[in-house]
Parts: sequence; C-alpha cells; structure tokens
Amino acid sequence: SSSTTRLTASSNMAPIETKQYDYIVLGGGSGGSGSGRRAAGWYGAKTLIVESGRSGGTCVNVGCVPKKMTWNFATINETLHVGKSYGYAIPEDIKFDYAEFKHKRDAVIKRLNGAYERNWGREGIDLVHGRARFVEPKTIEVSLEDGTKARYTAPHILIATGGRPTVPGVPGAEHGITSDGFFEIEDLPPKLAVVGAGYIAVELAGVMAAIGVETHMFIRGETFLRKFDPMIQKTMTDRYEASGVHIHKSHAGFKEIQLLRDGKGKDKLLKLIAHDGSEIEVNELLWAVGRQPEIEDLNLDIPGIDRKPSGHIVVDEYQNTSVPGVYALGDVTGHAELTPVAIAAGRQLGSRLFGPPELKSAKLNYENIPTVVFSHPEVGTVGLTEPEARERFGDDKVKIYHTRFTAMYYDVMPAEEKAKNPTEMKLVCVGPEEKVVGLHILGLGVGEMLQGFGVAVKMGATKQDFDSCVAIHPTSAEEEASLR
Ligand code: FAD
Ligand code: NDP
Repeated sequence: SSSTTRLTASSNMAPIETKQYDYIVLGGGSGGSGSGRRAAGWYGAKTLIVESGRSGGTCVNVGCVPKKMTWNFATINETLHVGKSYGYAIPEDIKFDYAEFKHKRDAVIKRLNGAYERNWGREGIDLVHGRARFVEPKTIEVSLEDGTKARYTAPHILIATGGRPTVPGVPGAEHGITSDGFFEIEDLPPKLAVVGAGYIAVELAGVMAAIGVETHMFIRGETFLRKFDPMIQKTMTDRYEASGVHIHKSHAGFKEIQLLRDGKGKDKLLKLIAHDGSEIEVNELLWAVGRQPEIEDLNLDIPGIDRKPSGHIVVDEYQNTSVPGVYALGDVTGHAELTPVAIAAGRQLGSRLFGPPELKSAKLNYENIPTVVFSHPEVGTVGLTEPEARERFGDDKVKIYHTRFTAMYYDVMPAEEKAKNPTEMKLVCVGPEEKVVGLHILGLGVGEMLQGFGVAVKMGATKQDFDSCVAIHPTSAEEEASLR
C-alpha cells in the first residue's frame, strides 16, 4: 500500500509528504485509464492516476463520444429526408431542439465520467484531481483543488496527457472556437465557417450541414482528407459539395478575424478577412487545423525527456521515453491519434511492466490500424493507400480492385438524389498472391463494416481469401467479397 517515503521542504518550508506508488499515470484519458486498469486490475500494481480535467479524457468529454452522438443526431435528419422518398409523410420543415439534445448528450458524458471513476475505484486505483508536473526526475507534484500541493513518486511513471486543439496565430483567432467549444454549442449558428481539412473539420462540418447549418469549409488544397486514399479524397469532397457544403478550395488562409457582434447562435457575427482580401461574414468560426501535445506544464526538462520539434514525446516501440522508467503513449506521442490505439498501447505497457515474465516484451503493433471518419457518408480505411503501396512495392507489383455503386437503400430516390449517395470500395493488393495491403471504403454503414475487414487484413488475407468468403446478400459489404 502507499506509504510516506520522505518529506520535502516546499517554498514556505512546510514539509510535503511524498507518497510512494508502483505506477503513476499522468492523465486519466483513454491511454492512462487503459494502462492503469491493466496494471492495477490485472496485476495488482499500486497505481495512482492524476487527472487535471474530467475523467475519461478527450474521447469521452470532447471527442469520440459527443462527436458520434452528434453524428447520430445528424444522421436521423438524413434518414427522415430519405423517408419522404419511401412514402412517409414527413413535413418539409422538420423541427428539432438542438439544446435538448445537447443536454442529453452532456448527461451521457457525465455518466461516463462516473463510470470511469467507479472502475478505477473498484480496481484499487487512487485518483487525484489536479495538474501534475515533475519536480524531480521521478517525483510528481500536483496542485490540488483545495490549494495544497501533494507529491508522489514511483519507479514507473506514464505520461498520457493527450493533446489539445491548435489555434492559429491569426489576429482575432480567439473569437472562433475549436472542437472543445463546438461541444458547448446550444444555439446553432445559422452560418458556420470551418477551417481545416482533416478528421475533425470533415466530421463537424458534416454534422452541421446535415442539420441545415449553412456550412463553409476553407481548405488549403483541392480536396480534404489528404492523408487518405485519392479515391476517398475526391469522392468525399465532391459528395460534400453536392450535398450543399460550400468548399473554398486552395484557400489563401485568413489574416484577421473581427468580432462584429458578440452573442450566441445567430446573434454572434464574425468577419473573416483572407490574405487575398476576400471577406465573409459568419455566425461562428471553427478552427480544425490539427492538435498539439499537452506538455506545457509538465516540466519535462526535469527528467530530461526528449521531444520532437512538434513537442510530441519521443518513444520507442515499447513506449519508453529517453528516461528509464518514464513512458509515454497516446496523443502526447503523436502516433495514430485514436482512442483504441491509446488504450491498446496502455494495456500492453501495463502488461509489460507488471505482468508475468512471458509478457516482458509486450508492445502494440502499430501496423494496419483500421480507422473510420464519421463523415456523411462514413469513410473506412485500413492499411496502405494506393500511392503508398505503389511507392513501397513498385507499380508492377500492385493490383487495384475498385467498385462504385449506389446502395439499394437509395433506390427509391429520384436519380439526381441517388447520384449524390455513392458507395465506393478499393482493394490494394500486392504480389502474385495478391495480399491485401490496403482497403478503402465509403458509403452507408461502412463504419460498422470495417472492423471485420480490419481483422482479415491484419491476418494477412489475400484477394482469394476475400473471394472465397460467401457473400451476405443483400448488403453493400458483399461487394467487397466479389470485386473484379
Ligand atoms: P486524452 O484522452 O486526451 O487524455 C489525456 C488526459 O490527460 C486528459 O483527461 C487531460 O485532462 C489530462 N491531462 C493533461 N495534462 C495533464 C497534467 N499535466 N496533469 C494531469 N492530467 C493531465 N478517436 C477515435 O478513435 N475515434 C473517434 O471517433 C475520435 N473522435 C474524435 C473527435 C474529436 C473532436 C477529437 C478531438 C478526438 C477524437 N478522437 C477519436 C481521438 C481520441 O479522442 C484521442 O486519440 C484519445 O482521446 C487519446 O487518448 P490519450 O489518453 O492519449 O489522451
Ligand atoms: P488532422 O491532422 O486530421 O487534420 C488537420 C488538417 O488541418 C490537416 O490535414 C491540414 O490539411 C489542415 N491544416 C493544417 N494547418 C492548416 C492551416 N493553417 N489552415 C488550413 N488548414 C490547415 O487533425 P484533426 O485536428 O482534424 O484531428 C486530430 C486527430 O484526432 C486526427 O488526426 C485523428 O487521429 C484524431 N481524430 C480521429 C477521429 C476518428 O477516429 N473518427 C475523429 C477526430 C479526430 P491539409 O494539409 O490538407 O491542408
């Protein structure tokens, strides 16, 4: 159990006791929780989690969970729209109460915060709320909510402090919001500007457009999702434009943001002035230009932990930092910034540090991680893009299988509406055995479809394996098992 090891003089010379643990975890988000629970719950390590915000971290509070719930909210509106074509008498002007939904979403998150803390308590993990920083190479100090300070030490310390949204250094940028502020919206802005072209920009612009907000995306290139396969970039950018999102391509970027009127929803008014002199007035501005690691207050120079120029903590494949006994994982390292990745890396580390001898080399394999963008429609991807595969293996080794069709679900819609709803699939295969090294899909339901295909790709499936699996009819997924 925890015990007082030594007393340290604080600035006012009152001694601060230093409590001893086996494992200290900084950050009670996806990775910290996953690792702490493995260490304490499975292997009985005396574990402390230090969390400065709400338990559960980004995913639960301002990430995956509220995002997916909002995507569900938006998807209902889309379904109602299709419902008219099926013959349902659905009024043109469907009323909804976004604030009511927001409060229900908040309540779900509050329940999850409690569930996280209950799980930790059940597994014997101590929790302190406060901001942690290193005061000695292996000692953490936490400023507690009551104004006092506490110190903790352990032979093993995990940094899982995640990240936060980047706000560009544009004058007036603070008048806009980031994804954190997005989840505080109760009154919808009638007209929204979204700057960025990655997961968050595409997902949040998508949900707003789907519920009738006039949405403008400002992107630096000709397409968004530029790290994805070209098929996804092109079809999704076209699809968003077809569904009414205003995409300002090759945009010069903004040089100034002016707050014309402060308020909420329609009452707020911003003027965005671009480098080329063009201007636009909107009710809200969402910065979605990437995220940065949350390391500022940690005093990483005290243990001397190496960072990349971006600030992300440098780790090896076992999540070791440059300092023995200090580890890092999840968004703070910048590797595949996804919740299941942070959880899996955390669990592997917990097993490696505190598990039986056969787990002393446990580590996460970062290859072939499936990922879904909750756009409209969803996008799923695992493995290499076509250009990546051509670059790695050479053009003559790569064979592409591709199909594009309209899901049966849309068959009752007028032709022009049907055309706006493609489903598209690409298999990237390599070598004479046609091993599947990349799988890219977009369309209705692909978010649920990808997990199974992810297993197949992870197992090293070939095109022949895909073909030998009997199709499930009638589905969209069956096309993946019979590509020609
Ligand atoms: P976090 O979950 O961010 O946890 C870090 C914790 O550390 C936080 O709770 C923070 O308060 C705490 N902390 C920070 N500094 C200190 C300190 N000094 N002392 C004490 N505590 C500290 N991923 C998916 O897989 N699917 C999705 O659909 C998805 N959607 C997303 C949507 C949005 C809008 C965003 C922003 C992210 C989304 N992600 C999604 C990514 C996912 O949320 C992150 O990859 C994941 O939360 C990373 O986990 P983590 O443990 O590294 O960090
Ligand atoms: P991303 O890295 O996905 O995207 C940021 C994008 O912003 C870049 O792709 C870049 O696009 C664009 N950008 C960068 N700087 C500027 C600029 N100055 N002006 C205009 N555009 C700019 O970051 P996100 O913040 O969207 O998401 C962070 C991470 O969180 C994701 O990478 C993902 O790992 C995770 N996440 C996962 C989700 C999921 O699993 N569904 C959902 C949300 C987040 P370009 O280079 O094309 O201009």
